[in-house]
Amino acid sequence: MAEPLATRRGTLAVPTFLPDATRAGVRGVTSDDLRRIGIEAVVVNAFHLLRRPGARVVQAAGGIHRFMDWDGPILSDSGGFQVWSLIRQDPNRGVIRDNEVIFREPETGEKWNLTPERIIGLQFQLGSDIAVCLDDCTDAEAPHAEQERSVERTVRWARRCREEFDRQLAERRMDDPPRIFAVVQGGGSEELRRQCARELASIGFDGYGFGGWPLDADNALLSEPLRWVAESLPADAPKHALGIGRPDHVVSAFALGYSMFDCALPTRDARHGRLYAFRRGWADRRPEPGDHFYRAVRIHDAEHRVAHEPIEDGCDCPLCSRHTAAYLHHLFKVGDLSAERLATLHNLRFYVRLFELLRGG
Ligand SMILES: [Zn+2]
Repeated sequence: MAEPLATRRGTLAVPTFLPDATRAGVRGVTSDDLRRIGIEAVVVNAFHLLRRPGARVVQAAGGIHRFMDWDGPILSDSGGFQVWSLIRQDPNRGVIRDNEVIFREPETGEKWNLTPERIIGLQFQLGSDIAVCLDDCTDAEAPHAEQERSVERTVRWARRCREEFDRQLAERRMDDPPRIFAVVQGGGSEELRRQCARELASIGFDGYGFGGWPLDADNALLSEPLRWVAESLPADAPKHALGIGRPDHVVSAFALGYSMFDCALPTRDARHGRLYAFRRGWADRRPEPGDHFYRAVRIHDAEHRVAHEPIEDGCDCPLCSRHTAAYLHHLFKVGDLSAERLATLHNLRFYVRLFELLRGG
C-alpha cells in the first residue's frame, strides 16, 4: 500500500479524493467551502486553463493557488485525455501526431500546438504541486495497432516530459520542487498495459496514473487492466486512478492498490439532483469490494416533497446539518441557485467520509 504522499504544500493521507476543479474552480462552490468539508487537494486541467484564461493570466495572478485561493496541494492534469476526446468527437478540431498535438478552437479558429515540453512548461507556469505528463489516449475497444501506437507515443512523450521537467528544475533552482506523474496507457491489452507501466517505471516518476477510459460499455470498472498496471508498477509508488469515482468503483480500485482518485461524478451528479448516502449501518464501516454500502437519492422524485428529514441522518455536511430533503427538493423545483451548491457540498462530504473509512483500515 502506498505511503502518504508528500508534496510541497503538505502531505496527503491516502487514499485521497481530489475533486475536479477543471477550470480552477469546483462548480458552484468556493475554495473555502471545500476546505470546510475536509477536502485536502484538487485537480485542475492544464489544457483547459491554457485555453481560458491562459497561462499568462494565471501566472500574473501569482500562480494557480493564489488565482483560485487554494493553499493545499494542486495536481494539474495534462489534458491528454480531454484533447483526445474532443478530437475524437470532431476530427476537424485537430490532429494527434507522433511529435505533437494540434488543437483548433472551434469558435475562434485559434490553434494550439501541444508538445510534451510545452505541457510541462505550462504546468510550471501554473505552479501546480503535481505535474502530469502528456499521454496519448486510447480506449479498450480500439484496434490493437492503435493501442500499440498509443503506448509507444505515451512512453516517448513521458521521456520528453521527464527531461523537460528536470531541465526546468535545474534552470529554476527550486528548493521545493513539484512532483511529476506519468500516465499508463495500453487499452484492454494485458501485454501493452504491463509493458507501458514497466517502461514508464524505468524512466522513473513520483507517481503513475491509470489512463484511458476506465469503464466498459456497461459502465463496469475495467478491473483487470487496473490490476495489470498496479502489479507492473513499483509497489510503493502512488497510483492515481484517473477519472475513477463511482463510490463502489473507488472501493474496488483501492483494493487493487490505487490511492489517489479524481472524478467529476460526485459534483456533476449533485448538480443533477443525485445525492449519495451511506446505507443504514454503513456510515462507520470500512466497505469492501462488492458491498452495497451506499444508495443514490434522486431529490427530484416526488417522494421527497414531504421528506422532512435530512438526506442522510448523521451526515455533518452543510446541507444535512441544517436542512431537510424536502427543503432541497423545493430549492431544486424552484430553480434556486443554492440547491446545486448544497447538493455538491453533501456529495463531496460523502466522499471525504468514505475515504476516511477506507484509510481507517
Ligand atoms: Zn449531507
